[in-house]
Amino acid sequence: MAARPSAQSTAPEVLVLGGGVAGLTAALCLLRAGKRVRVAARAYVAGTTSAVAAAFWYPYRAYPEAMVAPWARVSYARFAELTRSAPEAGVLRRETVEVFPHEAPPPAWASDLPDFEFVPAADLPPGYGAGHRFTSFVIETSVYLPWLMRQVEAAGGELTVHAYASLDEAVGDCPLVVDCTGLGARELVPDPSMYAVRGQIVRVRNPGISRVWIDEHSGSGITYVVPRSHDVVLGGTADEREEDTTPDPALTPRIIARCARLEPALAGAEVLSVAVGLRPARPTVRLEAETRAGGRVVHNYGHGGAGVTLSWGCAEAAAHLLFPT
Ligand SMILES: Cc1cc2nc3c(=O)[nH]c(=O)nc-3n(C[C@H](O)[C@H](O)[C@H](O)COP(=O)(O)OP(=O)(O)OC[C@H]3O[C@@H](n4cnc5c(N)ncnc54)[C@H](O)[C@@H]3O)c2cc1C
Repeated sequence: MAARPSAQSTAPEVLVLGGGVAGLTAALCLLRAGKRVRVAARAYVAGTTSAVAAAFWYPYRAYPEAMVAPWARVSYARFAELTRSAPEAGVLRRETVEVFPHEAPPPAWASDLPDFEFVPAADLPPGYGAGHRFTSFVIETSVYLPWLMRQVEAAGGELTVHAYASLDEAVGDCPLVVDCTGLGARELVPDPSMYAVRGQIVRVRNPGISRVWIDEHSGSGITYVVPRSHDVVLGGTADEREEDTTPDPALTPRIIARCARLEPALAGAEVLSVAVGLRPARPTVRLEAETRAGGRVVHNYGHGGAGVTLSWGCAEAAAHLLFPT
């Protein structure tokens, strides 16, 4: 990975800002469409929100729902494909159960899934009144983000480390820009409608479970259990406009207790780490083209709690906005 390259190196056709899941996926789509692409990011992998994400396919806190469902559908298909074609990418197919205190209508995206069904009351954990079952995908970000980076480089893309101070600076370097800066867009664009939704997760050793659980409606905070190959990500919290990235030790046992209600085996699981990420939230995802003096910028940010879920759908839409066919 290079620092910002000199002006003598081969000029890219497109400059992608951001090295999280949004930027890397957008870069890959553009490269596959035959474009010369440079990615510039302040940080990759560990320095991104994407690395903290739980990160399973589930449309959460991203709007408007009418747009989110088709983007999520595209990603669902791409992740399904990756489980077959690229087992090394870190995408796992998982049975997923969402539970509710009372009967709940199916979500808008239910009809897009091949196997969405209602769970019989007898199969629910104690205290729950309804449930939905479907196949989802868990994306192991510690495997998947480096895999995306390797794919970008293998397709001829350049990964560079540079923090842009403004979009004008970026357009000055390359007239076609895709802006995937997540929460960074707040200062870069600038976009004052961006705000953080703080989320704390606890990583525990996997006691032998493989089912994803979600409970968003019990009133005790968003709860999710996301089993990966060797560990389980337990969540969580969703605190709007809170930006302290230091884990709160008082929250950890409460998160574990909520998750153990869904999977009792988690009660005594060994804690491996605790992390906090800031979801890049916005009233609506910003996926649109903007003409600026000297160039064109396609914005692709503000995916809230669903940036992984929307990554392929939004990346393909962003590439199409830049190069309509
Ligand atoms: C606890 C938690 C759990 C989550 N769980 C899920 C989940 O299960 N499923 C799901 O779909 N989503 C989940 N999310 C949401 C998901 O993590 C985000 O929506 C997604 O990571 C956003 O990706 P991004 O690439 O837009 O942003 P980021 O990953 O933050 O990447 C932004 C990139 O832009 C770069 N950048 C910023 N400003 C500049 C600048 N000025 N110049 C150059 N580079 C810049 C950064 O360095 C970084 O590389 C979760 C989030 C949290 C916090």
